[in-house]
Amino acid sequence: KKDDIVKLTDYLWEIPTSFRNDMIVPARIIAFEPLLDAIIEDRSLNQLVNVATLSGIQNASLVMPDVHEGYGFPIGGVAATLLPDGVISPGGIGYDINCGVRLLMSQLNYDDIKDRVEALSKEIYAKVPSGMGKGGKIELTADQMDQVLTQGAEWAIDNGYGIHEDLNFIENRGKLEPADPEMVSDMAKKRGTDQLGTIGSGNHFVEVDYVEELYDQTVANAFGLKKGQVVILIHTGSRGLGHQVATDYIRIMMQAMTKYEIMVPDKELACVPFNSDEGQQYFKAMCAAANYAWCNREIVSWEARTAWQNIFGEKAGNLNLLYDVAHNIAKIETYTIKGYKKDVVIHRKGATRAFGPGFKELPQKYLEAGQPVIIPGSMGTYSYILAGAAKSRELTFGSCCHGAGRQMSRTAAKKQVNAPVLKQKLREKDIFLEAGSYRGIAEEAPIAYKDINLVVETVQASGIAKKVAKLRPVAVIKG
Ligand code: 5GP
Ligand code: MN
Ligand code: MN
Repeated sequence: KKDDIVKLTDYLWEIPTSFRNDMIVPARIIAFEPLLDAIIEDRSLNQLVNVATLSGIQNASLVMPDVHEGYGFPIGGVAATLLPDGVISPGGIGYDINCGVRLLMSQLNYDDIKDRVEALSKEIYAKVPSGMGKGGKIELTADQMDQVLTQGAEWAIDNGYGIHEDLNFIENRGKLEPADPEMVSDMAKKRGTDQLGTIGSGNHFVEVDYVEELYDQTVANAFGLKKGQVVILIHTGSRGLGHQVATDYIRIMMQAMTKYEIMVPDKELACVPFNSDEGQQYFKAMCAAANYAWCNREIVSWEARTAWQNIFGEKAGNLNLLYDVAHNIAKIETYTIKGYKKDVVIHRKGATRAFGPGFKELPQKYLEAGQPVIIPGSMGTYSYILAGAAKSRELTFGSCCHGAGRQMSRTAAKKQVNAPVLKQKLREKDIFLEAGSYRGIAEEAPIAYKDINLVVETVQASGIAKKVAKLRPVAVIKG
């Protein structure tokens, strides 16, 4: 209830530990008031409070303005647990391990391609398989699967499906070292055998946009963004493989919890100490699935690049990677907490890393600008590019929102939205839509999502990231 929430600033709210006696830290919400009013409608704040009870959690359990209900943890959530024996929880990472977004920048303006947008979207749709469980053209052997799981994006590049330069512009260069294929079940590997280069179901997409507005010329220059420039957004993750890893380890942890005498208020928060056997096994498997996802986004990019060349020819130039961000992942990072440097496991579930200027983890090119933060809106609204800012360190463990976030369940959206009509309406706004199913379209309709502008304004006001560019969609290829 709203009475239980204390307003700290216009954009920051707190549920204090006095709210429930099992809370270890307060729960904090980054949101402007109108967003908060909508957020209290679903169970996401209950989930946020549940997370505040997890063993080893530091500072606060956090949600971004795009928060909505998820499995155990809210989507749009950030939780940091203390190493070595704070818990790791698969529910705090999500079923689609290393779901994420990347942005490719073209050398053409919208005016140059206006007449060919439909042809381009059909070509991308033909090249990038979409839909739940859909396979692609690559069939991995057992050896190749192990390579993908350990090498990540590099595998795609070494095997002719990527560009070496890209590695500089992927979080962790598209590879987490602790990955261990042995910790990934045969079932998970089987599900991933033929899914590289595919996007999967409804919320995932390849989208053609152009830069409609710039807010920060200096940062835009550093990023290489220009007004009118056509860009391609890609959103997908680790497909069936990551889903199976999550399923496997949630089951394992539910059983292991008693051994470690861990009690949680919701069984979906299944977790174990990070340094336990099960915790280490999951972390290594999660890293492997994350690597699969980076490899997948690299291959999807390859197909999009091929489609681009097929339509516009060699002279159209390259599609350069701005950045690839993970938004469902756990990472080990160091923060100063109550005056001491501490290593923590940061769970980001539907949250994007947003490091401000000066971090050694950033590519040299962006060292002064800060990390590119990519925030998709919906198929019919704007999306935004931001740059991570200094305040994210103290407020959100270096994190920001990952999208607009749902305001309507899939079921509700399906009931309310007439997909053919929506497709026509988008067409009238010069947005071409290619999708496998009408059901998918209805679930992903713009009204199913919160107001992206308000979400981005909240983030901007909080100082965790700052606006750089606004993108307008012209073609959306959906799962
Ligand atoms: P999620 O990873 O939680 O499934 O989605 C991330 C965000 O992507 C959503 O919160 C939503 O704002 C955004 N989104 C979903 N579908 C589309 C789309 O077709 N185009 C764009 N630009 N954004 C989308
Ligand atoms: Mn996602
Ligand atoms: Mn996903």
